[in-house]
Amino acid sequence: MEPQSVSLTDKWQELERQLLMQVTKRLPVTLTRGKGARVWDVQGKEYLDFVSGWAVNSLGHCHPVVVEALVKQAQTLIQVSNQFYTIPQIELAKLLIDNSCFDRVFFCNSGAEANEGAIKLARRYGKLRLGGAYEIITARGSFHGRTLATTAATGQTKFQQPYFPLPEGFINVDYDSVEAVKKATTEKTCAVMVEPIQGESGVNVPSDGYLRGLRAWCDERGILLIFDEVQTGIARTGSLFAYEQAGTEPDVMTLAKGLGGGVPIGALLAKEKASVFGVGEHGSTFGGNPLVCAVGLAVLKFVIDNDVVGNVRRVGNYFRARLEGFKVKFDFVTEVRGRGLLLAVEFTDDIAEDVVLECLREGLLVNRVKPSAVRFMPPLIITEKEVDEAVGILDKVLSRRV
Ligand SMILES: *Cc1c(COP(=O)(O)O)cnc(C)c1O
Repeated sequence: MEPQSVSLTDKWQELERQLLMQVTKRLPVTLTRGKGARVWDVQGKEYLDFVSGWAVNSLGHCHPVVVEALVKQAQTLIQVSNQFYTIPQIELAKLLIDNSCFDRVFFCNSGAEANEGAIKLARRYGKLRLGGAYEIITARGSFHGRTLATTAATGQTKFQQPYFPLPEGFINVDYDSVEAVKKATTEKTCAVMVEPIQGESGVNVPSDGYLRGLRAWCDERGILLIFDEVQTGIARTGSLFAYEQAGTEPDVMTLAKGLGGGVPIGALLAKEKASVFGVGEHGSTFGGNPLVCAVGLAVLKFVIDNDVVGNVRRVGNYFRARLEGFKVKFDFVTEVRGRGLLLAVEFTDDIAEDVVLECLREGLLVNRVKPSAVRFMPPLIITEKEVDEAVGILDKVLSRRV
């Protein structure tokens, strides 16, 4: 296929420009079908997908286990109000609790909503246990979502500026510095909220001991430690949850992306002592409905029963080693970062956009996580053979720049 063919806009792309709010800078491809680690566009061109719905499609596209759970539940019960008990919600809660350090779950529909819930929970905790403390310390370069409160929590001015004034009570400090958190802590602080690895600002892995240091500080001050595992959770980094590798446990954790394997679901988990919502103090119409919970249950069961964590470690290490090879081969590749199957390659210059577009032409979907870095978040069941294929395409694209 000729290189210029993917930049040809089709009728759908023209309609999108007329009909949709123009908030998303899309790549010039209209996708219609997916299977495993591959997707196809309207022209029938095939792509290897190392974006996977933005670290969402844990089991790849249209995995039989996901499809079966979805179809079966769709034929049984899709949605009822949360004023009634439903079984998939309780089964998914049990599986999450049996496999984590938490005691209780609240289900919602997205990562932002899970974090919004965590913020409200921390404020409730502050009111009940900490004399009205309400401030939450978060990190610069973090990403916690697009609602007003999670935008205030997100330590990146580019997301905040268009919406000033934002809800107050969020202090953004340097990531990977326990000292910075200590300095920002006052009698008004009720919680510290961080990502175990920062995803959206470039796959930033903190130093060993950072998360344990935060734990010790939060214990000393009696404040809550919240981990946003929306991106790192569900095996993405080579353990079911990233906190396991940090050798510490937060009081509260949020999940979304990989949990549903493609259906919109979010979860807020807390230890008993932090689980302070009273009846009527939080809620959601769709949150935890039978349809998404049945799928989340099937995905999480598959991940646990099939040692997907083992695959993420094995293939993740293999992928990482192959990417490290680029550092030797190309002098403009400076760093390989990340854990498991959440990896990024850093370049000396702002070439990520061009690399993404050239990979697209060659049939590989990757993500420009920042102007100078490309991120990889393939399905968790990706094989070494598929990694070889992706690395081959990357090698071809990068070789043109020498
Ligand atoms: C994607 C992401 C969010 C937001 O999730 P949405 O489902 O888009 O609302 C929050 N936190 C982190 C760490 C994320 O990666």
